[in-house]
Amino acid sequence: MTKNNSIQATMFRDLESKSAYELAKTCGFHYLDHALERNVFPTDKAMEDLAKFEEKLPEWSTPAKEVIRLLHVYGSPATVSQIGGRYFGFVDGSAVPAGMAAKLLATFWDQNTAMHVMSPISSKLECIVENWLKELFNLPQSTVAGFVSGTSPANFCGLAAARWRILKRLNWDVNERGLRNAPAIRIVAGRHAHSAVVKAVGLLGFGKDIIEWVNTDDQGRMIPEKLPALDDRTILILQAGEVNTGAFDPFPQLCEKAKAANAWVHIDGAFGLWAAASDTLNHLTKGIELADSWAVDGHKTLNTPYDCGIALCKDKEAYLAALQISGSYLAASDEARDGMLFTPEASRRSRIVELWATLKFLGKKGLSQMIDGMHDRALQFERELGSINGIRIINEVVFNQVLVGFDSDEITQNTLKRIQELRECWVGGSVWDGKRTIRISVCSWATTPDDITRSAKSFERALRETLESSLSMRN
Ligand SMILES: *Cc1c(COP(=O)(O)O)cnc(C)c1O
Repeated sequence: MTKNNSIQATMFRDLESKSAYELAKTCGFHYLDHALERNVFPTDKAMEDLAKFEEKLPEWSTPAKEVIRLLHVYGSPATVSQIGGRYFGFVDGSAVPAGMAAKLLATFWDQNTAMHVMSPISSKLECIVENWLKELFNLPQSTVAGFVSGTSPANFCGLAAARWRILKRLNWDVNERGLRNAPAIRIVAGRHAHSAVVKAVGLLGFGKDIIEWVNTDDQGRMIPEKLPALDDRTILILQAGEVNTGAFDPFPQLCEKAKAANAWVHIDGAFGLWAAASDTLNHLTKGIELADSWAVDGHKTLNTPYDCGIALCKDKEAYLAALQISGSYLAASDEARDGMLFTPEASRRSRIVELWATLKFLGKKGLSQMIDGMHDRALQFERELGSINGIRIINEVVFNQVLVGFDSDEITQNTLKRIQELRECWVGGSVWDGKRTIRISVCSWATTPDDITRSAKSFERALRETLESSLSMRN
């Protein structure tokens, strides 16, 4: 403990010696060296050691190197190795090395990207990436992008723009007058819409109860014939990539119906929108260009580091107005883009740096290859797991998601628990069609064919042990 009332002098010394930074770098490299081979989920010991962080708020300063040391000794082992190739939980991406390295550099910059005048480089990169994304997703020229923390806020932004535009057409300024007594807006969504969309509907004050749910097929795709009559007061919410099956709504039919009725179409494409960037899978996203707003993550399929989402909207006026109550959006110019006009936040870190770096590193061809690789690995899972007795693949593996079924809910749960205990890979559970399943998401650039085989073997062993132990309990 440094009993020191000149904390400033301590910090200047830290800055000069760089010893804490050096230690962080050494620890980080050590972490990277082991991330691919280590147990995917923390060991019991690592979990117990988290108790070391429990203490009262310290009275005195702790040396910076000691702060870093504690994080590495007790923090690193209690991480989940998402940057390795055998983490298949939720729909969580890894991080492309160039993106992670760029984030490191940007950490030193510590920019606030609210305004051009605060960070010209961030402002410039936001303009560049906005154009690149329009090209990758084949979106209308008028499309603008907001760089937010994930698809949840991106959905919020898209739906806020829809709300502003629909009410504006009815001579109602929602920013000034709110929703009380406002003309009613309709919201139509598929039964398998992601909970993040439903949350945004709630946050925007529509009320979740007003959602008109449209029936879906056995893969979770909206059935066009089940779509109610739409009108110009309707927001139609579609999905590119269902979280369980990875299925895509049939956009051409649905969007054409919506266009004819002048309804607003918002697409939640958190991980699936990236299919548009694959030369072999872009048939899945055909028709998305007919929508009005889109939400997508960098930190899923694209494999940027975490905290990287993108809101896209082709109606710039509605988008800016929805997020800026003051009307200051009129100042938004392309030469000096103020990022805060495109996001709910004002101050933000410069997440655009790693988004730009990841795209610059991959290029169109590299990105297409990376996405195709995830799809190929998912197909490999389908083959290797599908050939094991007692395991069934439930979904059509159209993208990167694989849904696995067993003979009973009990076997599913016990096998899942055993797979998680083995720590060779990590997968989570889900429920599909009323039955428990294991959900696999291949979402890391680092996953190799060998990782799939090792993981499939772990499934096989876990199932065998589950069946053996239920047999021995019965005897
Ligand atoms: C992950 C996901 C979300 C939420 O995205 P966050 O980045 O976690 O906020 C929304 N919709 C779909 C389809 C998703 O897969």
